[in-house]
Amino acid sequence: MKRIQRRSNAALLLALLLLLGTLVLVLRLFLHGGDWAAYNANLELYTSEGILRWGTLTDRSGVLLASSEDGDYRYADDETLRLASLHAVGDYRGFTGSGAIQRYARKLTNYSVLGGSAEERGNVVPLTLDAELQKTAWRALRGRKGCVLVMNYETGEILTMVSAPAYDPLGEPDLSVDGIFLNRALSTAYTPGSVFKTVTICAAIENIPDLYERSFVCKGSMQIAGGTVKCGGVHGKQTIEQALANSCNCTFGTLAMELGGDTLSRYVRKLGFTEAGSLDGYPTAAGSFEAVETQDSYLAWSGIGQHKDLVCPYAMLRYLSAVANGGVVQEPTLLLGNSNGSTRLLREETAAAVDEMMSYTFTTHYGTSGRFPKLDLCAKTGTAELGDGTSHAWFVGYCHTGMPLAFVVCIERGGEGIREAAPVANTVLQKALEIYG
Ligand SMILES: [Zn+2]
Repeated sequence: MKRIQRRSNAALLLALLLLLGTLVLVLRLFLHGGDWAAYNANLELYTSEGILRWGTLTDRSGVLLASSEDGDYRYADDETLRLASLHAVGDYRGFTGSGAIQRYARKLTNYSVLGGSAEERGNVVPLTLDAELQKTAWRALRGRKGCVLVMNYETGEILTMVSAPAYDPLGEPDLSVDGIFLNRALSTAYTPGSVFKTVTICAAIENIPDLYERSFVCKGSMQIAGGTVKCGGVHGKQTIEQALANSCNCTFGTLAMELGGDTLSRYVRKLGFTEAGSLDGYPTAAGSFEAVETQDSYLAWSGIGQHKDLVCPYAMLRYLSAVANGGVVQEPTLLLGNSNGSTRLLREETAAAVDEMMSYTFTTHYGTSGRFPKLDLCAKTGTAELGDGTSHAWFVGYCHTGMPLAFVVCIERGGEGIREAAPVANTVLQKALEIYG
């Protein structure tokens, strides 16, 4: 009798284990089934050449960007659009891993837990990109290395994501071109130069009580422990608004030293610059910020956007979108109709104060040059010196009135921000004004 009891107990235990195993498997199927189905080894979706068999990607108005049907793959008809969108869209051969083809494989292949992979056809997945703006940004870069990002800061929709160099996905990539597979908008961090002053100012507004009452004196350079901070001009006595508009290194070096390395580092991290971010679940590049307090000159240069500062263009876009949107960033997305929620990055009153200063910077400096017809912007230029005589050209900001667009332009070793990056931003925004204004 005891033996029978023992055996039935063992059988019951086995049955329970089997049931538990099945439950775990079903649960994992629900959670990860789409990823498993989209995995490269699933021959139902991928052919031997690694081509995703089904699905169509379009821009926001239905312009075809890429499609695949049982191994036949197509890209945009227009060569400029194919080049401009390579990094955002990807390559069916998998040469670029960060594109929408791979990122949204699950949506494209029409996977469902109950039905498995689609047998007949995939989905049409519209992206937030605007084909016209993509082409305009690509042309405006004129073959230079760099990236252009434009986003609607009220919805989080990315309208433009162009990274150069690229290659035509219908042809073979030129492997001798440095970083041809790299999406510079998402996967690189650059020395920011003066665009970083928009970050330092945020910490100063919240931590230096008499910031607005003070006057900052610039004699063209400043002697501090460990070296000299040189300024681009001799700015004399300035208010803080004037100092940002003048992009005064002496003022921002002073602010960084007063704030201290710990406070500044805390803000840089809190505003999303040092850690890797995410675009629809795809990880973006982390930046770096190292404020060494033992040497004042290092700390000063850190607050000016030099020293060891590195910023991912995507992180800058998120920060500016938050400033434009009352301190809250609508998390970016490339999928039309999708929302990734929102995050408060900075206090509403701080965002308003940064906004006011960036608006002042634009209206008193860049806006008077006639470079930006019909545009009312909040903006900042950057000429990030690399120590070898070259510099990255930056122009970042957002539309203050009119369209709710934030933008980042960075041209690698492109020279002066106002001369090289600003015209690219203007060209793209003029096109946006034509389409959406
Ligand atoms: Zn100065």
